[in-house]
Amino acid sequence: MGKNLSEFPVQYIKGVGPRRAKLLNTLGIRTAEEALYYLPYRYEDRKNIKKISGLEYGRLETVIGKVISAEVIKLPRRNMKLFELTVSDGSGLVKGKWFNQPFLKKNFEAGQEVILSGIVKRNPYWGVGFEFDNPEYEFVTDDADAFIHTARIVPIYRTTAGLSVRQLRTIMFNLINTCINDVSDYIPDEILERNYFHGLTESIFNSHFPANGIDIDSLNSGSSVFQKRLYFEELFKFELGLSIIKKGKEVEKGIAFNCDGVLVRKFIDTLKFKLTSAQQRVFDEILRDMRSQHPMNRLLQGDVGCGKTVIAVMAMLTAAECGYQSALMAPTEILAGQHYINIHRMIEDMGLKVCLMTGSKKKEREALRCDIASGEINIIIGTHALIQEGVEFKNLGLAIIDEQHRFGVMQRQLLKKKGSRVRGFEGSKKEVLTPGDLATLTPDVLVMTATPIPRTLSMTLYGDLDYSVIDELPPGRSPVVTRLFNAGQKEYIYRAIAEETKKSRQVYVVYPVIDETEKTNLKSAILGRDALAKIFPGLKVELIHGRLKPQERENIMASFKAGAINVLVSTTVIEVGVDVPNATMMLIVHAERFGLSQLHQLRGRVGRGGSQSYCFLLMYEPLSEDARRRLDIMIKTNDGFRIAEEDLDIRGPGEFFGTRQAGMPDLKLANIVRDARLLDTARKEAFALIDKDAELNTFPELKKGLEMFWKGKIELFKTG
Ligand code: ADP
Ligand code: MG
Repeated sequence: MGKNLSEFPVQYIKGVGPRRAKLLNTLGIRTAEEALYYLPYRYEDRKNIKKISGLEYGRLETVIGKVISAEVIKLPRRNMKLFELTVSDGSGLVKGKWFNQPFLKKNFEAGQEVILSGIVKRNPYWGVGFEFDNPEYEFVTDDADAFIHTARIVPIYRTTAGLSVRQLRTIMFNLINTCINDVSDYIPDEILERNYFHGLTESIFNSHFPANGIDIDSLNSGSSVFQKRLYFEELFKFELGLSIIKKGKEVEKGIAFNCDGVLVRKFIDTLKFKLTSAQQRVFDEILRDMRSQHPMNRLLQGDVGCGKTVIAVMAMLTAAECGYQSALMAPTEILAGQHYINIHRMIEDMGLKVCLMTGSKKKEREALRCDIASGEINIIIGTHALIQEGVEFKNLGLAIIDEQHRFGVMQRQLLKKKGSRVRGFEGSKKEVLTPGDLATLTPDVLVMTATPIPRTLSMTLYGDLDYSVIDELPPGRSPVVTRLFNAGQKEYIYRAIAEETKKSRQVYVVYPVIDETEKTNLKSAILGRDALAKIFPGLKVELIHGRLKPQERENIMASFKAGAINVLVSTTVIEVGVDVPNATMMLIVHAERFGLSQLHQLRGRVGRGGSQSYCFLLMYEPLSEDARRRLDIMIKTNDGFRIAEEDLDIRGPGEFFGTRQAGMPDLKLANIVRDARLLDTARKEAFALIDKDAELNTFPELKKGLEMFWKGKIELFKTG
């Protein structure tokens, strides 16, 4: 027969119908194909369900038994309600406990047969007995489909209100049995064979309803060969897309910045330090790109404080010497302002014009626009105001984006487009290009980030970019000493602040919120400043936060930098890029409220000069388990890469990357951390295939699947 599964609505699958089709839609399942790729998040081994008497503490176990009682208990403390289910299988009793979900009671009746699974615990008061907190449950009805739900490894799916796991499982079973013969495997055979993958049919079947004998642990950890086959397919499509984008960029015409390098040499002579060998290497990589005929698309990664700004300046000087403008875009006004001050000072003797363009300076913007358009200004530093309509460059040759993790892929594209919009001869065919020919040229792009992402991961995130890393800090930096305190130990911190400021060093105090609110009950920056001003009457304590006018913020930052402020109280506005080497101490209040990468970024504000620096984490208990872990890691290490890996582990890749993935397809099956090696394979295979057949003309089915996967994101193939 041959159904086209990617267009076959789930509604017409046996046992679905219009009502359930709606529910399935909310799970992202619209077609039969989407259903086949909707994998269980967990599996239960119901081949050998445990007797209650044989349960082991601390293990994830499943039991089957009859409901003895189902009651809601009022807890004296804090108005809590506990729903408690007692189940017996003849060998013993087990309790299921749910906090604050009294409505569950109506689902259960004595005598019903249920399956419960969860981690086995002891009763906290008696220290004996068996309990599950928030177990998963499923009713046993003796319908004809019982063989789907028992005596086998059973899939557990995420579902939605109105559709039980059991119902969804039945639907899946029917669906797979009616559709499995219509699936078509469009990964080239050669690739499947080379990597020992199983066939698609077999892989789908065993990922939903595993054959007896497949190891349950491998299924639950997502490492069975069958699941891997499906993850691979997704990663392969992802990487094929990236490789096509990258290939497209390689044939773009760029500017060959072939000048002598006098400005860079002059600049290096003015520095009070020697470039680290990592900085030197990375600049060579950038220079090679800049000199080539094709536009640079490079990611520069390096932990906070490794000295990326100097590299950016050297690249901009190279562009300027060849007669081109550069733009540096930063995520916040504070950071853009800092860059402006620093860079302006670094290159003031070079005879170049630098300007700052941010959203708030409306009046000056008009005049700046003219000077940018006429080419009067060589280096433009700014926020996203730079990519707004109306800003036109005379000849933008280099676009640098700092702290990329704050910007989306789209913004990168927009800034880049600024380059091709300049006046010039459209469509010049000359072999040797001069600045006048710019209209057809794409500027070089350098993206800088301090989020230390493990290399395989940055290849997915920024897979269309080349990659450089500064893996070395300037010499003489001793790691920041990090200590954890609770609210009872504040005195110690105050003494340390007093000592440090006596040595003319400066201190940051960071709060999670600007204002106190009833809801959060957190200490705030505004009250914090007042309190600190009282404690330290002899010191100048200032406040900076996002609600101040940009001009005020700039003034405060400038006077902090000049040493006129001893203690700067702030919110996370100082998180990225702020550089005041004389600030050697940081106190983070409510450290338990901050994410790990955020804590690391904040801590990166100190330890930037030669002297020993300190970071105090002040926590307010009770702490969640994750918060405890985050703080532990902060005390243990200063290594940004390790911290990023831990953060990824705590939050999972979805959260970790957040909306930065904008413009990229979601990965529904694969997990770039768990499947890092598979990702690597997928990348190699995808890039090799695109090298051989850039348009995938030999694999029309694969091409169709790929277009579907990337649909609405980026157009991969030029139509017509
Ligand atoms: P980041 O990579 O976090 O943007 P910056 O470029 O702001 O780091 O550099 C941090 C500090 O280190 C600055 O004060 C900068 O002047 C200094 N610095 C940069 N490179 C070196 C070096 N090779 N030796 C000593 N200090 C350096
Ligand atoms: Mg920086």
